[in-house]
Amino acid sequence: MVNIRSENQDAECLRVLGEALHHLKVGFSDLPVTSEKQDPESLSGILNEVAERMRDNFPYQHPFYLGQMLKPPHPVASMAYALAMAINPNNHAMDGGRASSQMEKEAVRQIARMVGWESALGHLCGGGTVANLEALWVSREVNHHAPVFASSQAHYTHGRCCQLLGVPFHSVPCDRSGRMDFRQLEQMLEGTPHSTVVVTLGTTGLGVVDPLDQVLKLRDRFGCRIHVDAAYGGYFRLAKNLHPTTQRQFSLIEEADSIVIDPHKHGLQPYGCGCVLFRDPAVARVYKHDSPYTYFTSDDLHLGEISFECSRPGASAVALWATLQRFPLDIDGEFAKGLEASRTAARSLSDWIDQSPEFVRVVDPDLDIVVWSVSAKSASESSELAERFFHEAAKRDLHLAMLQVPQSLAAEAQPDLEWDRETLVCLRACLMKPEHLDWMPRILEVMESCTRDLLRSRIQ
Ligand SMILES: *Cc1c(COP(=O)(O)O)cnc(C)c1O
Repeated sequence: MVNIRSENQDAECLRVLGEALHHLKVGFSDLPVTSEKQDPESLSGILNEVAERMRDNFPYQHPFYLGQMLKPPHPVASMAYALAMAINPNNHAMDGGRASSQMEKEAVRQIARMVGWESALGHLCGGGTVANLEALWVSREVNHHAPVFASSQAHYTHGRCCQLLGVPFHSVPCDRSGRMDFRQLEQMLEGTPHSTVVVTLGTTGLGVVDPLDQVLKLRDRFGCRIHVDAAYGGYFRLAKNLHPTTQRQFSLIEEADSIVIDPHKHGLQPYGCGCVLFRDPAVARVYKHDSPYTYFTSDDLHLGEISFECSRPGASAVALWATLQRFPLDIDGEFAKGLEASRTAARSLSDWIDQSPEFVRVVDPDLDIVVWSVSAKSASESSELAERFFHEAAKRDLHLAMLQVPQSLAAEAQPDLEWDRETLVCLRACLMKPEHLDWMPRILEVMESCTRDLLRSRIQ
């Protein structure tokens, strides 16, 4: 799976891609030849300059990068994307991308089946933000402009989407583990029944899973609409090694009214690939519009009739379709095993933190994100040490992330901490690559060495 390919492998990929490209072009060989006046050699200077510029990046593709949520696309996705670019189809309508629209429908159907939906309405879009915006828009239309409730750890764009949509947004406090506090939600819903509740299965910061089971009970009482934001966590529905409580939330996902899953987060896709699904296909009526110029070449459903954006990259759909051929969304399949490996890697990092007197785990990892703080007397000292650790690790090519954690969440882990600032800077690792598990011993070796330096710097 690794994307740190040797140059030999790069050459092999380019050869396979070249053959497929030839196969594609043969399909158009009846056309009169156009006089292509391209001189790729003359572009080599520019491309090398691009390569030079791109070296100024963290090594996202390497297992030593465990900072932000970045999982490299699988070569099958990159190659299929590149192949589709010979056509550059637009999945707004059949007129602009017949084959790729069909592939999008097939790919989306597979994601819908993964969540237990056979006849859902859904499509790809630019990413999780647009996908959530669409879901909240549809919710607004079918749910009488009702207010939206999401946890304080939900993705920050939900509040922003509600602003755009002109519907009230309410932030629901979290319990000490960072999950939406359903008791507080219950009280809030007492005053506002028939609302829309966003349940996050895998929060972006702490990677924890909201109690969908409890929210479903509240739906029965208060008649809410439920949107599940599983942009990051959705594919974990396939994993078998989650905590039973976490597993239960994923098994209930089909009870939601709408679901967002980002193939560009865990699904091995290049950026620009989110997916929104609706349980009731009748919500298509919300998308109805009269485009005077696009729908001529078939009576089949054009994806532009059920999506918010107009032009969309057909290449994204092709890449996802190809990836699903290679990695079907099966429990016990290779892809599912990769997610399980990520979760096991997170557990082993979490165990290491638990055994290390220097650190305190902030929450128990539900999926593959681990967040921890440095034990210290005060919040400012702990934050400063976390930053120092982050830089020490980066010097050794091990890239972590930092996260501001509010006192309400971090206080339990370090009850004696003096709170001389409002939030605590914590360390965060996203162990999203399946290779992370094999690399854990080397990753922990670097962590050990950074810890020794941290200790030394404290003594001085
Ligand atoms: C990443 C993420 C989003 C936003 O998705 P983008 O693809 O970055 O626009 C929304 N919700 C959750 C839970 C996420 O992790």
